[in-house]
Amino acid sequence: MREGFAVLSILAAALLAQEAPVPVDQEPLHKLVLKNDYVEVLHVTLAPGQSSQLHTHSHDGAAVRLTNATVSTDVPGKGPTNPQSVRPGDVSANSCAKQPLTHRVNNVGTTTFEVVDVEFLRRPEGPPAGPIAAPAAENESARVYRWALAAGDSTPQHTHARPYLVIAATPMQLLMQAPDGASMEHPVKPGDLHWVDSKVTHTLTNRGTENGVIVELELK
Ligand SMILES: [Zn+2]
Ligand SMILES: [Zn+2]
Repeated sequence: MREGFAVLSILAAALLAQEAPVPVDQEPLHKLVLKNDYVEVLHVTLAPGQSSQLHTHSHDGAAVRLTNATVSTDVPGKGPTNPQSVRPGDVSANSCAKQPLTHRVNNVGTTTFEVVDVEFLRRPEGPPAGPIAAPAAENESARVYRWALAAGDSTPQHTHARPYLVIAATPMQLLMQAPDGASMEHPVKPGDLHWVDSKVTHTLTNRGTENGVIVELELK
């Protein structure tokens, strides 16, 4: 009897432990791809039918979806959300520094779900800069610029006065040109990213034959 109770207690404890949320960067499906003083970048891949562990976001964050997929999320104490369709280049921002979020993400569709999750650890020194265009999403830490470029199209020329992260949401033959004529062209694939910590003026051009989306997240 006593033994049976002990076994049950251990089982109950194990179940509770399994349900305890982990910080997002310790969730096994969130793979760390970049970390510096300002950002922590996690690439998440969920196979069809797969769910993440319960995890907590406690910094302001932003997400860039990389695939067509159908997902739902569970928040403890609430039921799962309705399935939501996402597309490559869908972006969002949250303010989890103020209000931490604990949830689980479920891939409820038949395709792989991939998303780049950016956690803003802190803002750089110095005064914030104004927006360079209408942001697609923002929070107190950063603005998210979503450049949807048809084949041959370019962004307006713009200047990043603050550190920023560029993330490819789709494949693209990407040309970056500076006003002095310096240019760099290379193919990018979904999830490729690059952190830039210097003041940059440039134009981004889609030199490929397909529509594409490139996302820039600039710290405030
Ligand atoms: Zn999450
Ligand atoms: Zn830019």
